[in-house]
Amino acid sequence: MTTRVWDYLAEYRAERADILDAVETVFESGQLVLGASVRGFEKEFAAYHGVDHCVGVDNGTNAIKLALQALGVGPGDEVITVSNTAAPTVVAIDSTGATPVFVDVREDDFLMDTSQVEAAVTERTRCLLPVHLYGQCVDMAPLKEIAARHGLVVLEDCAQAHGARQGDTMAGTTGDAAAFSFYPTKVLGAYGDGGATITGDASVAARLRRLRYYGMDERYYTLETPAHNSRLDELHAEILRRKLRRLDTYVKGRRAVAERYAEGLADTDLVLPRTVPGNEHVYYVYVVRHPRRDAVIERLKAHDVHLNISYPWPVHTMTGFAHLGYAKGSLPVTEALAGEIFSLPMYPSLAPDLQDKVIHAVREVLATL
Ligand SMILES: *Cc1c(COP(=O)(O)O)cnc(C)c1O
Repeated sequence: MTTRVWDYLAEYRAERADILDAVETVFESGQLVLGASVRGFEKEFAAYHGVDHCVGVDNGTNAIKLALQALGVGPGDEVITVSNTAAPTVVAIDSTGATPVFVDVREDDFLMDTSQVEAAVTERTRCLLPVHLYGQCVDMAPLKEIAARHGLVVLEDCAQAHGARQGDTMAGTTGDAAAFSFYPTKVLGAYGDGGATITGDASVAARLRRLRYYGMDERYYTLETPAHNSRLDELHAEILRRKLRRLDTYVKGRRAVAERYAEGLADTDLVLPRTVPGNEHVYYVYVVRHPRRDAVIERLKAHDVHLNISYPWPVHTMTGFAHLGYAKGSLPVTEALAGEIFSLPMYPSLAPDLQDKVIHAVREVLATL
């Protein structure tokens, strides 16, 4: 059986009755857009985080984009983030007219190097946008401190960190707002696209509700632009409500897979993920590092193990972001990582025999490299 980095079918088969009941519930409800399921999911996702507000949107990219706009970020402003992230983080910033500004990541955990942030602050900086990459949190204390001193807002990109914690604090509850994606591969995934922003600020939440709905508070009267149609569908909201009840179980499943990998690969020369002390990692992806990455991936195909790279190109080196003016070599850790990292299969329904198959295949490939 072909082993892929991600697959949802085993999970679907296990949860089929509940998922189809969610579909039936929405189809029978008489309301397909912005109804009881979206309201219910927003309430429950906010409660899960212990915050007052959640606004569902159509995907994670727009969750970031609308959150930036709701926080008052726009043309002429600078947003400090990382280049070692999924491109949509930066696409979202760029689409508001603001300018993404990159700091490098740390060599040991690949997360934002917060010690570089202060030097990147200018009088145009409006927002710090940490990405809780791969499933664990960026150090939030120094960011909060810098933001307070310079009067900046903090938006957390939580697209890979549903259910993650830093100490007692849930990912997404430290900043002024946090954006989530429910793309199917994510730790909490829909059966299609979805996203949401959580915030403790009622006026930010109210603005988000207008921005996702043509700038309207009530029907047919736009009072705010630039606005969008970025609604979360009832169908995905109802499925997400059902799956939210199992989020902690999914996280447990992912952590168990990670543990098995860590045990099975400990004595190889693969660099395994490092969890920052105090962080609870939810392993959206299990990213490892090896200097001969491309050869390892190629040879694993012969074992029917097909892997993925998150991410092969640093965002600042992409053609679409050439206008930002970052030369090659400007973010050395990010650039070195991009050539050496790859991801092992990771999802909670990954069967133990497939986990072992991956471990054995990786060990054999490394031993004969
Ligand atoms: C998936 C992801 C996004 C974008 O989410 P979509 O729902 O695909 O638009 C943004 N940021 C990060 C870090 C992601 O992993």
